[in-house]
Amino acid sequence: MSQIQLPKSLEGKTVLIAGAAGFVPSTVAEFYLNLGAQVIGLDNFITGSKSNIELLEKYQNFTFFKQNIYQGLPNFSEQKIDYIFSLASPASPIDFSIIPLEIMRVNSEGTLALLELAKAKNARFLEASTSEVYGDPEIHPQTEDYFGHVNPIGPRACYDESKRFAEALTTSYAKKYGVDTRIIRIFNTYGPRMRPDDGRVIPNFINQALKGEDITIYGDGSQTRSFCFVTDLVDAIHNVMFSDVSTPFNIGNPDEYTIKECAEEIIKALGSKSKLSYHPLPKDDPKRRRPDMTKLQSICDYDPQISFQEGIQRTADYFKSKL
Ligand code: UDP
Repeated sequence: MSQIQLPKSLEGKTVLIAGAAGFVPSTVAEFYLNLGAQVIGLDNFITGSKSNIELLEKYQNFTFFKQNIYQGLPNFSEQKIDYIFSLASPASPIDFSIIPLEIMRVNSEGTLALLELAKAKNARFLEASTSEVYGDPEIHPQTEDYFGHVNPIGPRACYDESKRFAEALTTSYAKKYGVDTRIIRIFNTYGPRMRPDDGRVIPNFINQALKGEDITIYGDGSQTRSFCFVTDLVDAIHNVMFSDVSTPFNIGNPDEYTIKECAEEIIKALGSKSKLSYHPLPKDDPKRRRPDMTKLQSICDYDPQISFQEGIQRTADYFKSKL
């Protein structure tokens, strides 16, 4: 593997971001706007926030189309496109029971449409896959060569299996048509611009702690996750996009916490009086999750900068501004 040459500027380049109203994609979009790229955002607001697009619209080099990407893309026949980020899927477990078909369609038909566009425009394409492709993993930490342990008919299947399909589709476009592709597997990520009612653990716990409500621990809280602050994640995404490696990379932060520790850290960081309350563990909830970062660190100096404590403060400040 070669070391990465990161561009100092992307002036004159066009970046397409599918799912631009989501918290990770809108942070990616802002990063590339600041590098001088023309950025085109697409979103249908199924789970993304209008406020994230309003923020991006302050940049002159941003254009937005309200569009459901599995129902067709805007007419880009005259448009040069250099980089495509496939970041459009809802990703919170509470979405899995409410909009499973939309999730499966965006990751299959939506990804297909973006890959066809990449082929037509000779653009580099990045598929944002997920640690969920490992399911409830039997090896720990998870390395990219692990094939996973996924229940194909369980409550998380719509996401896990459609992202596995998206990885297969991306790899097939690279092999059959020579499309220049990248794949990232995003581990648990949090930060400003998440929806307060997103349903994932960090926004739930922060909002409960801020309001002095009980912190809702599912199961006994011994299950683990490794949480990455969103700006560190964007740094990893950028490194992968500008690498020359098409096989998947884990991206995230390898610091691992039990969910109970996570609750206690949040209570402490926010000086909250909230108590812990225990609720049933959802079916197929992965017991342990931590990315093995060896592969990414073999091609760049990636080192997450934001500690959990600092990230929690920054995220809480964001939620406070929305209360
Ligand atoms: N969780 C919890 N309380 C909540 C929300 C989530 O204990 O209010 C747990 C959940 O059961 C899982 C972990 O926190 O074990 C992370 O859940 P999340 O929904 O953030 O994402 P996942 O990693 O499961 O996709």
